Parts: sequence; C-alpha cells; structure tokens
Amino acid sequence: MDAITHKGDADHPASAMGEAGTDITRALSQHLRALRAERAWSLQRAAEACGVSKAMLGQIERGESSPTVALLWRIAGGFGCALSDLLPRQAGAPAEVRDPGRVRARPASDAMLVAPLFAFDPALAFEVFELTLLPGYERVSEPHVAGVVEHVVVQRGSLEVLSDGAWVRLQPGEGLRLAGDREHGYRNAGAEPAVFLDLIHYPRGRSAAAS
Ligand code: MN
Repeated sequence: MDAITHKGDADHPASAMGEAGTDITRALSQHLRALRAERAWSLQRAAEACGVSKAMLGQIERGESSPTVALLWRIAGGFGCALSDLLPRQAGAPAEVRDPGRVRARPASDAMLVAPLFAFDPALAFEVFELTLLPGYERVSEPHVAGVVEHVVVQRGSLEVLSDGAWVRLQPGEGLRLAGDREHGYRNAGAEPAVFLDLIHYPRGRSAAAS
C-alpha cells in the first residue's frame, strides 16, 4: 500500500495516522457537544437533523466511536456547518506550509482518508481537503446545504465522480466543478488509490462557523 504513502509520512510512521484518528475522535466529541449546546438541541433532535441514530450520535459525542468521513458529512449537514469545523483545530501561521502527510487521517475503518489542508474560514467561505479513495471505494453523498459547490482536482489515480446523474471519469490533473447541494458521488474503480483535492465552497452566512 505504498502508493498512499507521501514523502511526509516518512517522518511520521504508522502511528501518525492512528494518532490523527484519535485526535479526530476527541475533537469531534468536543465540537458536537459545543454545537448541540449552541443550538440547545437534545440528542434526539440532533440525531434527527443529522439522519443518524441517537445511539450512534451519543457514542460519537462520548468519544466511543470514530465515524467514517461519510458520517462526518452527515453530521456537518445536520448542523449546517463545514466539515472542517468538526475536525481538530489547526493553529498555525498563515504562511505555514500544509503537508497532507502530516494531517491525513483515516477516521474509521473506512476506505476514505481525509487531510484537511485549509480549514473553513467564514471570510473566505471555502475549505480544501486532500481526499484519498482506496481501490473499490464508492459513495453517493446526500446533498449538502443549498449553495455548496465542490471543485474536484485529481492528483493521482483515476477518479469517477457522479455529477448530474452520470459518472464522469477524471484523470490526474483534470478537474470538475459539481453542485454539492444535489446528489453526487465519488468512486475509485482503479487498482491504485485515487487522490484528489476537493475545494468546497459554502454560501456565505450559511455555515455554523459564520452564524
Ligand atoms: Mn460532497
């Protein structure tokens, strides 16, 4: 599986990904409590908004369960916040070089890895991720909040994106803008990991971070 090893990983062996996963679980637990408190939502109300079971949301909030990236998206959708709002906060100077090898994590035993390169900033209204789909991964995403637009640019491997009801194959270097507020999806039918950047634009004022 060396195909998903970037050079940054050399300084951060196997343990790095596990630690990042633990960090995600801990950060998510704190963010969920804060989001629910802000809205004065019961666990039941939050579970309904996110479309996940109350038991599952409770486990995540207590740090007992680490959700998949797909589940993180549903939670972000339920609270109307950006995905990076749920991930560990990254302090750092504006000019800090962001190395995906240092922030890439596999939140759960899922075939999708996420590296938050640039967290959501309400003044800029976007966030940027490096996403890795292991071979065979396929997911059709429920729509995000109205006005979300995704910009996908493939770096390595071959990615297929579901947009406007059709799967479109993208090669490294190719990009596609898609409406995140409609059904869309990603899949890797190739034998190598598919690595792509996803710049996600949010409508101004619609994210919890901005409200
Ligand atoms: Mn999406």
